[in-house]
Amino acid sequence: MGVLVPSTLDAAVAVLGEHPDALVLAGGTDLMVEVNEHLRTLTGDETVVAVGRIGELRTWAHDPTTATVRLGAGVTYAELASEPLAGLLPAMAQAARTVGSPQIRNVATIGGNVATCSPAGDGLPVLAALDATVELAGADRRRTLPVAEFMTGVKRTARRPGELITAVSVPVLDGWQGYAKVGVRNAMVISICGACLAVDRPTRSVRIALGSVAPTIVRAAEAEAFANTAVDWTAGTVDDESAARFGELTAAATRPIDDHRASAAYRRHAVGVLARRLLRRAFP
Ligand SMILES: Cc1cc2nc3c(=O)[nH]c(=O)nc-3n(C[C@H](O)[C@H](O)[C@H](O)COP(=O)(O)OP(=O)(O)OC[C@H]3O[C@@H](n4cnc5c(N)ncnc54)[C@H](O)[C@@H]3O)c2cc1C
Repeated sequence: MGVLVPSTLDAAVAVLGEHPDALVLAGGTDLMVEVNEHLRTLTGDETVVAVGRIGELRTWAHDPTTATVRLGAGVTYAELASEPLAGLLPAMAQAARTVGSPQIRNVATIGGNVATCSPAGDGLPVLAALDATVELAGADRRRTLPVAEFMTGVKRTARRPGELITAVSVPVLDGWQGYAKVGVRNAMVISICGACLAVDRPTRSVRIALGSVAPTIVRAAEAEAFANTAVDWTAGTVDDESAARFGELTAAATRPIDDHRASAAYRRHAVGVLARRLLRRAFP
């Protein structure tokens, strides 16, 4: 197979224009597992475009005027878990710290997580709760999609052949935010369910996005609307009964499946507990 190693974004996009079905390789922590597990069959005729040496993809920038952090697709989970990014996007840092092991976090990228679009991808509920956008570059045009439109199903996205994910833009909210995950152990674990809760104090709104409980990441709209009115915004508190109701409404927004990791019933129950706990952490 041919392995191309462009060093600029323009070169990568041009190469993908010529080879729209090329395999993009970032950290390889999803792609190589698929190859090793024979989930992806290689014929030997593939073109691989390795993007790890493209400096523009490895950088990030905070724009205080728009209150946005633009993360290049090649930013790793290790960077997301550490300062200064952790201070700007605390829920993403919490999610990043649950991903794999230090070795995985050193190479696994946010762009790879978004492109794979597993319902269990830990970065995705955070991006969904924060209303992030995904930037794509093709040979003839660039476009930006809300992450909710980008994720179309189980490992399915709106990315077109020949497009490279270049960045995700993440709003920096003013308010508490956190990520919580249930797995069968504390590290190196794919989530049984995960949830990101983010508070936006200026608009007095609560957002909650859920992983591993539906074909793709879902927002629990009814639970969010309930929390917006149930929270005492002046005191910064919520009562036990409202927190419990929030958990129930969150659980009702899910469409989980039974699989080898957990039953649908357990997932629904556990994600409701996570939602309740996250709301209590936000409004103690
Ligand atoms: C041991 C282990 C533990 C793990 N634990 C977790 C975990 O706890 N939580 C979790 O969420 N994930 C986990 N993962 C999965 C994986 O680490 C993440 O999904 C990671 O973010 C993938 O990024 P990557 O750079 O390695 O992607 P790659 O494997 O390089 O690529 C993944 C997919 O995205 C495509 N792609 C990559 N970059 C781009 C781009 N810029 N534009 C277009 N397409 C692109 C590739 O073609 C491929 O289809 C784990 C993996 C392993 C091996």
